[in-house]
Parts: sequence; C-alpha cells; structure tokens
Amino acid sequence: MSWSLDYREFKPGEERLREALCTLGNGYFATRGAAPESAAGEFHYPGTYLAGGYDRQATEIAGREIENEDLVNLPNWLALGFRIDGSDWFDLKAVEILDYRQVLDFSCGMLERHVRFRDAAGRHTRFDERRLVHMAEPHLAALETVLTAEDWSGPLEVLSALDARVENAGVARYRDLARRHLEPLEARAVDGDTVFLRMRTLQSRLEVAMAARTRLDRACQPRELVEPGYAGRRLHLELQQGESLRIEKVVALHSSRDRAIAECGEAALGACARAPDFAVLAASHALAWRHLWQRFDIALEDGGERTQRILRLHLFHLLQTASPNTKMLDAGVPARGLHGEAYRGHIFWDELFIFPLLNFRLPEITRALLLYRYHRLGAAREAARAAGYRGAMFPWQSGSSGREESQVLHLNPRSGRWIPDHTYLQRHVNAAIAYNVWQYYQVTRDLEFLGFYGAEMFLEIARFWGGFATFNETHRRYEILGVVGPDEFHTADAETGRPGLDNHAYTSVMAAWVLARAFDVLAALPEERRRELRETLALGEEELARWDDASRRMRVAFHGDGIISQFEGYEQLAELDWDRYRAEYRDTSRLDRILEAEGQDVNRYKASKQADVLMLFYLFSAEELEELFGRLGYPFPADTIPKNVAYYEARTTHGSTLSRVVNSWVLARSDRAGSWRQFLEALESDVGDIQGGTTPEGIHLGAMAGTVDLVQRGYTGIEARGDVLWLNPRLPGELACLRLSVRYRGLTLDIEVRQQALEVHARASNAAPIALGVVDAVHSLAAGETRRFEL
Ligand code: BGC
Repeated sequence: MSWSLDYREFKPGEERLREALCTLGNGYFATRGAAPESAAGEFHYPGTYLAGGYDRQATEIAGREIENEDLVNLPNWLALGFRIDGSDWFDLKAVEILDYRQVLDFSCGMLERHVRFRDAAGRHTRFDERRLVHMAEPHLAALETVLTAEDWSGPLEVLSALDARVENAGVARYRDLARRHLEPLEARAVDGDTVFLRMRTLQSRLEVAMAARTRLDRACQPRELVEPGYAGRRLHLELQQGESLRIEKVVALHSSRDRAIAECGEAALGACARAPDFAVLAASHALAWRHLWQRFDIALEDGGERTQRILRLHLFHLLQTASPNTKMLDAGVPARGLHGEAYRGHIFWDELFIFPLLNFRLPEITRALLLYRYHRLGAAREAARAAGYRGAMFPWQSGSSGREESQVLHLNPRSGRWIPDHTYLQRHVNAAIAYNVWQYYQVTRDLEFLGFYGAEMFLEIARFWGGFATFNETHRRYEILGVVGPDEFHTADAETGRPGLDNHAYTSVMAAWVLARAFDVLAALPEERRRELRETLALGEEELARWDDASRRMRVAFHGDGIISQFEGYEQLAELDWDRYRAEYRDTSRLDRILEAEGQDVNRYKASKQADVLMLFYLFSAEELEELFGRLGYPFPADTIPKNVAYYEARTTHGSTLSRVVNSWVLARSDRAGSWRQFLEALESDVGDIQGGTTPEGIHLGAMAGTVDLVQRGYTGIEARGDVLWLNPRLPGELACLRLSVRYRGLTLDIEVRQQALEVHARASNAAPIALGVVDAVHSLAAGETRRFEL
C-alpha cells in the first residue's frame, strides 16, 4: 500500500523518529505520534504545538544573556494509561510484545496501533488504538482505544488526563536554554466525563485551554485527579475474560489568539461538549482528507512503490502543517513543521521550496502565509531602519513578532563549545519573499493581493536592496557587502574573521532581479493604485532610476573558466582534502562542526553546506538567466550551468536537506540518471533520517515539499509565464507515467505525462479558456476539453 507507513515491530530507539513521522496535525495544531501511555524520557517525546504559539525566554550562556523564542510544547492531551489488578502502569518496554503494528494512513489521516502482549503475571491482553487530529474541525482531536482481556478477568484501572507538566526538552542541543514556558491557571473536572485545563505562556501570555471528554462503553467509578497543570480521571472497572472495553477520548483545544471566540476556556469547553463521537469525527475527518487528496495527489507509474509512498507522506505532512485551516491564522510555515522543536519552530526562507507546490493546488494557503509576512512588514521596516537602511529587511529567522529570532550563539555538540553565529546575515531571505510574491501572482493573477499587500512588500524589499547596495568607483559597479548566503559554512572572512561576505553571487543576482522586477510589479498595478502606493511610499523618479541602474550594474565575481564565484575571494580558499575527511568521518555533512572541533575553521575551505550558486539555476530557467546576466553585462555561455553544477557539486556536503532537492533539479535536464539518484536521496531525508538524528526533532518541510515539487514542476516543466500556462515535460527514464491535477485561473487541469505523450483535460467550470503552451506552441484549452500532444 503506498498510502501508509507501516511498522511491524516496536523499537524503542526508533520511537522518537516515528513520533515525528507519525505526527498528526491540521495546520492549526499538531501532535507527535507518541504512545498515549508514554511520558517524555529517553525513548519518547510527546509534543503538541500550536501554529504561531511562541514564547520567549532568556538564558545565560557563556557569560551572555541570550533570548530564544520557542514554539511552545503544549499540554499532552493524549495521556491515557491503564493497569490490571493494581500492577504497574502499562509500558511497552516492560511487557512481552506478541504482536505489534503501527500504521499511519495518509489517505484518511489516521494513526493506528495494534498491540498484543503478555505481562509479567502471564496475562494476555490486546489493544487497538486509533487517533486523529481533525482536518475540518481544527480545534478537535480524538483517541479511541479498544482493550481486550484475552485470558483473564479482574479489575482494570484507566487513567485519562490532560498533562501540562511538560517542557520544551525535545532537542538535546538546547538543553542549556530555558525550557519552561507554561504556567498553570486552572485545572478541574467539569462533569461526569470531562476535565479542563487552562495554561498561560510565561512571556507571550498566550492562554491555551484544553477540554477532554473520556467515555467508556460501560459504567465505572471515576475518581478525579487534579493538581496545578494536570487534570485527569481514574476510572475503575472489572473486565471479564474475552471482554473488550472501548475508551473514547475527545479533546478540544483553543487559544487566546483564536478568532470568533469570547474566551478560550469557554470555547474549548463548548467545542468539547458539542463534539460528536469518534466514529462521526472519523468520517468527517476522512472526507476532509479525501477532498485534499483530490487536489494534491500525484500518482506515479513505475518509479517504485517506495517513491510513491514517500511522495504522499511528504504531501501529508505539508498539509498537516499548512492546510486550509491556515487561512484563519496569523502564522507562517515553520521549517521543521509542527512536528518537533528543532529550530524552535522558526520560519526561514524554506517557503521558497514550499509555495510552488501550494500555488498550483490551493493558492489560498500561500496567500495566508504571505500575509504572515505582510503583517510583519512594520517589524521589517524597523529592522532596516535600525541597521541604517530604508525599506524592509525581513529577519532570517522569524517567529511571533517578525523581529530577528536567529540565535547569536550556537552549540557545536562535537566540541561542546558555544560559537558566535552569523547566519542571521542571510539577507537573501528578502529576495525569497519578493520572489514568492511574484510567483504567487504569476499563477493566480490575484491582483487584489498584489495591489494591497504584495506590491508594498515587494517595493519595500526593492528599496532595501537599492540602499543596501553600494557603488564601487573602481569597478564602476554596485556591490552588496557583508552578507551570508544559503551555504552556512561561509559566514565570515577567512583571514580577518569579519562577519559576512562580499558580492555573494546568489544574493547579488537575486537583488538585481528584485530591482528589475519591481518595475513589472508597478506596471501590473491599476494606475490609481500605483499612484497611491508611490505616494504612500514616497517613491520618486530618482530612486527608481537608482534601482534600474543597480539592476544593470550589480557586481558578480567569476573565477577559473566561467565559474561564478560564490562570493568575492572564493577562489583563494583552500581545497579540502575530501578523501581524507570522507575516510575519517562516516558523515561529513556537518563539516563545519568537524573542523571546529579540530580547532580549524570551515570558512577557509572551498566546501559548502548546501547549494548556493546553484540556487540560481533552481529558481530561474536558462533563458531567464541569460536575460538576467545579459542585463548585468556578464556573459552567460551555454555551458555555464553544467560547468558550475559540476564544480560546486564536488564541493558540497549536503548538510541541509534542501541541497539535494536543488541538485536534483539542476541536473534534471542534463543528467537524468544523476538527477534521479539525488531525488531518491532527497526522498529519504526524513523517512530514512539521513542526517542521523535530526528528523526526530522535526521534519524538514522544505525538502518534503521540494521533492514533490520536483515531480510537479520539474518533470512536467509547468510554468505560469505571462498569460500562458507552459508545459514542457521530461520524465526521468524510471517513470512510465505521471498524473496530477493543478489549478490555474479557475480551471482544474488533469495532467497525464508519459515518456512520449502528454494529455491535459480541463474539468467542467465556468472559467474562461486558457492559453496552454506545450514545448513551444500555444493552444487554447476550454473547460470540458481534452488535448493530447506527442512529445
Ligand atoms: C539550512 C537553511 C534552512 C534551515 C531551516 C538550515 O540547516 O542551512 O537553508 O533554511 O536549515 O530549514
């Protein structure tokens, strides 16, 4: 079945990884796939996270007070345990497991566990458990357990609770940082079957309320167990041999940031009381998932069952992090999902890898996520002003308020040393935001969005680049100085240690693109809105002239035979003895940490953590690059792409999971076998936890979405350019057929690509016909029509 993850054995050492991979969520909140009877410890880490639910705490580290904003681990609503005849509480690690099966079913968003075991007293028991986090009722989650006494009769005690005695302790590297974020406000039993808990985050003063209703299929004697931060019930009953007991727990979660509520406690209690039973919830939840899959599924023929399964897993987790429910929130998309605490739930540039997938399916989600940025435009303006610039400078790591949340020190677990962190100098995130605005507009033509939000962000970012770039009289060109690129191994000058790099190619070309594209953004606006915006922003002719000039004369350094220098002076760096390091260290992906632990500095070497210059070939077609470099007055001969790909590929460790996505993409048309190999490796990023321990701390959403987008856009060549939807398919040799549906200007298109043929069907709709470009000819396609093309 390519619709599920299926585990047949309990492996305590793998539990944290499975918890991340089996996380259930709905864009509003998510809960790791931890066993309900487990508590945080060596093997388990239950975690529940609310989109946008942050708290900031200060810690003294290496003699400095540093602040960290975390996505807060909320009370554990799963908590459900049992014990037979007063023995120990059930623990998988303490019994003999006879049958074990854990299944995550993506098709309907259900996580199941089926276990048969023999306990120390020789009794045989089985339980069958199902859980969901409701996709259509974003405040609800539910857990159903059916417990069967196979060969015993006797007393059984069930404990069902809401447990807020939790901390942010999911990432070992952060253990020295403050990790307590919640204070108890209220804990009580409400009526016969419901308990209630209200907590508040310490600094952000976010109130979170949970109500849990636990029902058994028979009468029992409940006993309340309430203390600050904990509200539970113990249920005592007798079970006869061969009998099964059904336990159903339905939970409602609300926070003080929710819309359309009077107060979150009242809202949670009301939602819990109104909630139907598990079976009804499961049916409406499955329907919501069916609808999502109708829009999002990608079906492959050949290419391997595992490939198909992982692609669906990736879509599943993307939709659990950013879903139709995101539309009602003020939240961005965290790089590591709502699946764990890595990077503290912060939002980076990873949107660049995520939005293209959403744009063609449910662009309303992209819109909501772009609005997360728009609502923080004020903070970005303030950051630019404080640094001495005009316009908007969005932070490298963003959280609640839009201020810079990057850490100033980070721990090298190899050496145990805290090291100054300059990665916040990744100003290229601003180009990514502008690029995302433009791409969203290209696909949707959502002029209202562009007019009222997108253009303002875009122009303020252009203004930042226009002022950030300085004119170098010697070169007679503009320069961008003191920045860090996607490759986080190079963050400072190798000789002087001065933070930041000069004329970083990717940043500079992107800045030039933003400055050039700003004129198209202005031109796209209705005349009246353009005038208003120019007046509001005081955007005069002189400034526009500077943007135009800088977009034509930005400096890019080259070396060797047509190699785009990653930054000024790159060619002077030393070559690493790759053979030696690869032989000595099994995994060199975090070469920065290896070298630092050896007392060396990765800045000195031609070694990259991830695709950097190659990002240009990922974001732009060869034609666009020719135009961009041509505008800058630099040659861009036909062999530029293959030459640079070969050069940088040989010097990249793929220490970021984003890197293989980019590499696979840039090889797709020149080296199909190599591209497929990198694609398969990228697919393993999380299921295979190829970084050796990072996935348990949260999935890598950019790589997840990026791999699906490789199939969606990379293999179909789909591109919304001007008023034409272009298709230029090129399937890897391993695939016989690829089927997917995209939305474009009010039409839903079912696309089928084969090695030699393409078929596009437009479903019934009232939308106007569209222009469909295939390879190099443009055709018209109306609703209800099907067109076939030979390739
Ligand atoms: C990568 C960044 C990425 C971040 C969050 C880092 O390891 O270097 O490019 O944005 O992870 O995914």
